[in-house]
Amino acid sequence: MSRQEMSFFIIVLAMLLSSNCLAECPGGMMANGLCWPTEGNELLLGWHGSNPNYPGKSHLGQDIRVAEGKRVFAIADGVVLHNRMDVDGYGGFGFNGGGLIIKHQLSDGQYFTALYAHLKNISVGTTVEKGQKIAEIGPYAGGTVHLHFGIRLPYNDNDARWAGYGSSDNGFTNSLTFIQNNAPYVDFSDDFQMIEATVRKVGDAAWYPPNVDCFDAQQWFRVTSTTCYFADRTICFEIMGACPAF
Ligand SMILES: [Zn+2]
Repeated sequence: MSRQEMSFFIIVLAMLLSSNCLAECPGGMMANGLCWPTEGNELLLGWHGSNPNYPGKSHLGQDIRVAEGKRVFAIADGVVLHNRMDVDGYGGFGFNGGGLIIKHQLSDGQYFTALYAHLKNISVGTTVEKGQKIAEIGPYAGGTVHLHFGIRLPYNDNDARWAGYGSSDNGFTNSLTFIQNNAPYVDFSDDFQMIEATVRKVGDAAWYPPNVDCFDAQQWFRVTSTTCYFADRTICFEIMGACPAF
């Protein structure tokens, strides 16, 4: 093993010690590291869809078809803001259900809130960890059983408008494209030692970012580990500075 190959293995080993980096997503992980919020992925009514029960209003989230009793997962680490039996009509049905609103943080530090709704058996404390089971899919009398998943940005702790339909967006954004295109904040301070190492591309691994020119077999560069990128979903690193000439 060459010296360069050795340094690659050193950084990988260190990454394995980071629980943040390796947080699992039982429902699947999105390309940039957020978790998919439940066990099913069949998309029902999406962003700005219409429902005859709410004339003149549009849908402010993404509905995902999931059988009652299936698990719902936190898409990232977060703080529970509202854990209510009934949030704007999502209903509790006597099963400790309803809507659950959790404050999460993006990789750039910005906060946002996620609404997980039509739940039962909500089981959370004041904080949640990425991928944690937070509830189960509840019954839904109005049609197909589903998770209503909404995202509001920017974060607004005092705003109580959590309705799933509105004549305006009420701060919500397209939760499907949001979860596909954003990365969660990761704090390595508790469980990660800063590392500087020289790493090279190995095979055709999808290193992040994929369009950096210096990721070829002849060139090398320095990385540290303050930010979590999901290259092959097990290794995290942040590129620091320009690629050195070799
Ligand atoms: Zn909905």
